[in-house]
Amino acid sequence: MIKIGVWVEIRGNFIPVMKNPKWHKDEIILALDLYFIALASDEELLNKIKLIEDDDYETKSVWEGQSILKVHKAYERDKKIVEAKKKEVLKKLGTLTCEVCDFNFKNTYGDWGDGYIECHHKLPLGKLKVRTLTKLNDLALVCANCHRMLHRRIDALTVEGLKMLLISNKNKG
Ligand SMILES: [Zn+2]
Ligand SMILES: [Zn+2]
Repeated sequence: MIKIGVWVEIRGNFIPVMKNPKWHKDEIILALDLYFIALASDEELLNKIKLIEDDDYETKSVWEGQSILKVHKAYERDKKIVEAKKKEVLKKLGTLTCEVCDFNFKNTYGDWGDGYIECHHKLPLGKLKVRTLTKLNDLALVCANCHRMLHRRIDALTVEGLKMLLISNKNKG
């Protein structure tokens, strides 16, 4: 039985939840569930989550948001998944280009930037499940700037959404 309030009760544990009007009740439940599934079943993931620094100060006050962000990042830092995604895209397109803004590290920085790109997990919070995280289609290759923008607010912007934003802003100027 799960009760949502200032505190959330999950399997007898009380967890503080800052009310965020942007989040649907079901999203909070799923997010917390994901967090606990991850913590309970994957020691390797738990260690990765612990290692991730709290550099997203804008989400710091939202306890559960921070936890989800850490789970999200833990998967994005999984070397095996990232390498597989890069390999797949390299095979298909021959180059690693940001899916949002077309930035290419090799074109800009030469050999020094060769092979560099960041990996972002696309699935929205409400649909995130531990088992689905390894699908390569759920990952997007993005540059460091676009990745930061995607993470500026938890689950607020999709890869496609950021691309639209960028295009509409370019057309303004
Ligand atoms: Zn970009
Ligand atoms: Zn990301």
